[in-house]
Amino acid sequence: MDNKTFRKFGHEFIDWAAEYFEHLRDYPVCPSIQPGRILQQLPENPPEEHEDMGKIFHDFKEIILPGMTHWQHPGWFGYFPANNSPPSILAEILTAGMGAQCMVWQTSPAAAELEERVLGWLRQMIGLPEGMAGVIQDSASTATLCALLSAREKATGYSSNLEGIKTPLTVYASEETHSGIEKGVKIAGFGKNFLRKIETDDSFAMVPEKLEEAVVRDKEKGLKAVCVVATLGTTSSTAVDPLRPIGEICSRYGIWLHVDAAFAGTAALLPEKRDMLDGIEYVDSFVFNPHKWMLTNFDCSAYFVKDEGALIRTFEIHPEYLKTSVDKQVKNYRDWGIQLGRRFRALKLWFVIRSYGVEGIRSMVREHIRLAKLFEKWVIDHEVFELMAPVPLSLVCFRFNDGRKEEDLDQANKRLLISVNKTGEVFLTHTTLKGKYVLRLAVGSRTTREEHVRKAWELIVSRAKGIQSDS
Ligand SMILES: *Cc1c(COP(=O)(O)O)cnc(C)c1O
Repeated sequence: MDNKTFRKFGHEFIDWAAEYFEHLRDYPVCPSIQPGRILQQLPENPPEEHEDMGKIFHDFKEIILPGMTHWQHPGWFGYFPANNSPPSILAEILTAGMGAQCMVWQTSPAAAELEERVLGWLRQMIGLPEGMAGVIQDSASTATLCALLSAREKATGYSSNLEGIKTPLTVYASEETHSGIEKGVKIAGFGKNFLRKIETDDSFAMVPEKLEEAVVRDKEKGLKAVCVVATLGTTSSTAVDPLRPIGEICSRYGIWLHVDAAFAGTAALLPEKRDMLDGIEYVDSFVFNPHKWMLTNFDCSAYFVKDEGALIRTFEIHPEYLKTSVDKQVKNYRDWGIQLGRRFRALKLWFVIRSYGVEGIRSMVREHIRLAKLFEKWVIDHEVFELMAPVPLSLVCFRFNDGRKEEDLDQANKRLLISVNKTGEVFLTHTTLKGKYVLRLAVGSRTTREEHVRKAWELIVSRAKGIQSDS
């Protein structure tokens, strides 16, 4: 492609994206298509000859777009948000334009130094201790795997990477922990059955006394407790594990404390939500995702560690072809995680933080929390709805309950969810809490306003009437 065509389509695509933002609400949040429908429209063999960008763009609009789920839609209330923003997108264009590999300082000095600086900003923004150093990972799952591996290495005197695990090592997390922790334990070589799921209380937060009991029990059996993963903002209900008592236990038994705050970490921008970090001085590693609730395009996961030496010792490699004369003076982020090649992800974070200002991001987060609180009140005040978990942040867990038998409620709520999502105007997801089927409304899309939350509530109430009259 010549530069002239590149320029022409570049302008056109930005216009397309700007119009997409303006018309997002006109799309159904989720496409209603049969599995395989997109695949059918795509030729089995790649083109041998050049195809026109005009034609490719046309096919994007005709084939791909109708099969997309619109995560930036104002009616997006599913899972957790993955919000993007104009400054983040603009930075991604520059990143793609330069196409740099940011594996060591020398392969892009500015990328390495900007990453160091911006992660320092983030650390201050959410109130992490001064000594913690940060690095961008692709996802919280990867960051947590890094934490598990570092914890394993430290607990075995840095021998487990090379020699394997000689005696069984255990990991602890609440029964509400994210599936990524299970995956991490599974692939980090801890072996089957060495993840302890600790009981939660009525608010779905880990019970520290149960944690200590489990640690002591394992110790008596000759097992070694290596890592506790505390969650700030669980995926099902944004429950917050109590960091201070958990940290005291970790410090008493010499256990690595990792914090998974993938979604909720952003809320620590707000002074009024900082209390969830009480006990942070005990924490060895901490991850949160600016790619969820902080206006930064996927992927951008911020991983902070107290002892960067432990992280580097776990991951460093020194092949001849990657040695440089400045290795002693600089940060080579290839040694801070699993990837060698790394995208320049600090740029979008820098653009977002500067473009919105910390206060601008705070005000979005505050507004989302206000909207969730509003929805919570509507649920509480309505006779056929029931709140199913506390609402510390911007996620509301609730269900329809018209007094029918408990065993019939799950089915009724499943039908309600399908019926509401079928409208295409909003999208909610579900979970189970203590065995009960629960609907989740997660506010966090950049484009969501009060009117959209109201609309969601009206739809839910009106569809629930249908369910009531059917039975
Ligand atoms: C979303 C989420 C994850 C997984 O995040 P990825 O970046 O997709 O790996 C992990 N833990 C919690 C609590 C989450 O909400």
